[in-house]
Amino acid sequence: MKGKTHAGMGIVTYLSIYNMLPEKFNYIGVLLVAFASILPDVDHPKSMINKYILPFKNKFTKVVLYGCTGILLIWYDYLYTDTPIIKAVGISLIIIAVSTHRSGLTHSFTGMIMFSFIVGYLGNMYNLHYLVYYFMIGYGMHLFCDMFTNRGIALFYPFENRKFKFPLTYRSNSKIGSAIEGLLMVFGILFTIYRLPVIFYR
Ligand SMILES: [Zn+2]
Repeated sequence: MKGKTHAGMGIVTYLSIYNMLPEKFNYIGVLLVAFASILPDVDHPKSMINKYILPFKNKFTKVVLYGCTGILLIWYDYLYTDTPIIKAVGISLIIIAVSTHRSGLTHSFTGMIMFSFIVGYLGNMYNLHYLVYYFMIGYGMHLFCDMFTNRGIALFYPFENRKFKFPLTYRSNSKIGSAIEGLLMVFGILFTIYRLPVIFYR
């Protein structure tokens, strides 16, 4: 599934359920949901998120850049800061470095819990306790949507390598796949337009 489809699906989900969240509608929510919706594909060097991070879009650059940054952070933390959040970010970067696309941690519940812990921790630091909910909506929607593609995802990695998918799936790079994703985007945009008045005239 394409990055923009994931971002779109995350935002549509947020717009459908923000009323049930403690904070109601806000723009940090929309941005964080969109970011969390594309984050799991950080395990792919050519994904939307890596377009802005990696100077060269190949596996080697991904492994070296994330791996070295992670090791440097952990080293820095060991020497100077000794705070759990820097350790957690460092470990996450190393995990991103070694995760293979869709079969590693970023496409599993373990990855979701790990990243949510970091976001929750940051949120509590700045008194934004609801950040973690937005993050989990976006991340969870990404995993849910990927289960509609024929390759599925290893939801329980590293405890189990089995790939999970729904009974009805499509190939994400096929013609039908692109058509389905295009259609989803059209419905998403229509739904967003329909919701806009409710958001602005609360
Ligand atoms: Zn994915």
